[in-house]
Amino acid sequence: MSTPTRKRTRQSTAVRGAVAFGILGAVLAAPLLVVGLLLGLLVGVTSASFDGSAAAGPSPQALEVGAVSAEGWTHPIPGVVTYQGNYGQLRSGYTHAGEDLSAPYGTPIYAAAAGVVSRASCQGFQGRSPCNVIINHGPDPSGQVIETWYVHMYPQGVLVSLGQQVAAGERIALTGSNGNSTGPHLHLEVRVNGVVTDPTAFFAARGVDLRNPTATPPGGDGVAAALTWARTQIGAPYQWGATGPTGYDCSGLTMRAYESIGLELPRTSRQQYAATVRVSEGDLRPGDLVFWSSDGTAEGIYHVALYAGDGRIVQAPSAGRTVEEVTLWRTNLYGFGRLP
Ligand SMILES: [Zn+2]
Repeated sequence: MSTPTRKRTRQSTAVRGAVAFGILGAVLAAPLLVVGLLLGLLVGVTSASFDGSAAAGPSPQALEVGAVSAEGWTHPIPGVVTYQGNYGQLRSGYTHAGEDLSAPYGTPIYAAAAGVVSRASCQGFQGRSPCNVIINHGPDPSGQVIETWYVHMYPQGVLVSLGQQVAAGERIALTGSNGNSTGPHLHLEVRVNGVVTDPTAFFAARGVDLRNPTATPPGGDGVAAALTWARTQIGAPYQWGATGPTGYDCSGLTMRAYESIGLELPRTSRQQYAATVRVSEGDLRPGDLVFWSSDGTAEGIYHVALYAGDGRIVQAPSAGRTVEEVTLWRTNLYGFGRLP
């Protein structure tokens, strides 16, 4: 990802206002200099607090947007100052369902991916903090409906309306501290078929590092593209010993998928296991390898598939069947691998 440039007009406007009034004070009368400076600072503070409403008008030309990943996702708030890492945290009576990304008041928030605004309102909603913007990104390649939720803006910080189509990286809101909040931040949630999921892992699997807007998560982009290729082979017949293009066995499919993005895997599932490093199930990213063993040892490995995200795999299953995307099956499941 390229480096998004940050634009912070808030502080500089305040400083310029203070300086201008300071000079005015000096010209009028030297004793008024101090008063002028104080006045300038006051005006600066006032204009800063109105920055959100000013920006709610026509978009400034110099809007800066982070790069979009190969999967079509972007960091929703490249101006983030502190990544809180508080998804899943236990609060009094509930679990924190999102990730909090702190940034000064009025920091632009962007659509994380293309979609349609399914909510843009500051009215009461499930007892939650206002205002809420929800973008429905529609079904992903595996048919699951993805939503991103953006919370805590003030009314003037909601820049989209219900039913509006948005592109990845389009400015949709400005940070606030509205509702149950202790400071300006974006509360970001991700829902897959309506179920809350860890935003950081979700974004990492789509080439975006929520913890650092200018970083690419390790292993994120590359192997996800191998999965994209494997999905183009869905329907091709299983054929023992085949490595395409008309048929595949399990390791032939994974080998060709990695080859399509310039990565080399050895020929058999056992060799592919040996060539990769271990990954825990919770850290799986789309395109990682999944292995099955007949006897619970590495020697007994007989099957490999590509992890497809959200508990699914793409595999060349067995004779008489075709390449398919299915739920990760657990009988004889042995482990997970990623190229080092
Ligand atoms: Zn939150």
